[in-house]
Amino acid sequence: GTVLIMGLNFINTTMHSFLNETIYPLLESKEKCFIVTANPELVMGTRESSEFKHHVDSADYVLPDGIGIINAAKIKGMPLRERISGVDLTQAMLEYAAKNDYSVFFLGAKKDSNQKAVKNAKKTFPGLIVAGHEHGYADITSESFIDSMVATRPDIILVALGMQRQEKWIFDNINRFDKGIFIGVGGTLDVMSG
Ligand code: UDP
Repeated sequence: GTVLIMGLNFINTTMHSFLNETIYPLLESKEKCFIVTANPELVMGTRESSEFKHHVDSADYVLPDGIGIINAAKIKGMPLRERISGVDLTQAMLEYAAKNDYSVFFLGAKKDSNQKAVKNAKKTFPGLIVAGHEHGYADITSESFIDSMVATRPDIILVALGMQRQEKWIFDNINRFDKGIFIGVGGTLDVMSG
């Protein structure tokens, strides 16, 4: 189920259940999915921008990423079972992808961080299939780029363009793909590059 906090429907689950009951079956059936990892800053963003709210509302799952969300739910008397962070979810998905031959596209972060994140991911998760990667300051909204990205047929798309920009990118482009778990991961590629 979900819990409504400050206008957003947060999924009330554990990371283990979310992976096993939602993500892995979606990967297996090659379905599309848009995941938002929401911290309090993101929630505030949706209150300030109706366009951004619209993008977040189009997501299939809004995950509570940040203790502030967990605390807000508790105060409202609707406790959420677990905080699910974008970094943790990304690591778990990469591990699963490497073991089960699902491909990953790394989109975003500075050129150097993007390359290092890909390199480190391959090292940490041997056998990981990298569908492709592109840094977040390239022309990633052009028709030709989207066409080339669609052609790589990624199963998992990590979008690290910063809050709002990454959700807009997913909102604008997810329909071009015929499968893929799209997730806005914020600074995760920077963390992975370190
Ligand atoms: N980023 C990007 N392209 C942009 C702006 C930001 O790829 O046009 C990347 C940035 O390099 C970083 C990530 O998005 O890896 C998160 O950026 P930031 O911390 O500014 O955003 P936040 O998520 O904190 O709003």
